[in-house]
Amino acid sequence: MTVAMAEGLRRQILDEARAAHPAECCGLLEGAREGGRFRVIALHPARNLSTDPHRFEIDPRERIAAQKRAREQGTRVIGCYHSHPNGQALPSIADRAGAGEDDFLWLIAGGESLNAFVYSRGVFTGADWVTSSE
Ligand SMILES: [Zn+2]
Repeated sequence: MTVAMAEGLRRQILDEARAAHPAECCGLLEGAREGGRFRVIALHPARNLSTDPHRFEIDPRERIAAQKRAREQGTRVIGCYHSHPNGQALPSIADRAGAGEDDFLWLIAGGESLNAFVYSRGVFTGADWVTSSE
């Protein structure tokens, strides 16, 4: 599985992570998926509703709004992103408990790293970044 995303969007997520610290930032990923190839074309930053600093919870209304905007663009919400203030850019126990949607892309920021995972049938699998030529 691969993920293509512009460098500017990667920097935006890391900036949001720094701004939200010591809480987690979160948002949704708009783009397209073809088989195991994900292309992120826009971010939809969301408020983190969680009062637990080690979790994130995207407001369902923001999710619906992002899906509506994506549909208008002919794209879809293909995943989500959030940060780990402890610097570990890996799925946490809370992430495993909270994940539900299959073939959903998860970008996790920790420190200066941003790692990509695809959740499917109870398992997070690491995905590789590919350089976006578009
Ligand atoms: Zn997490």
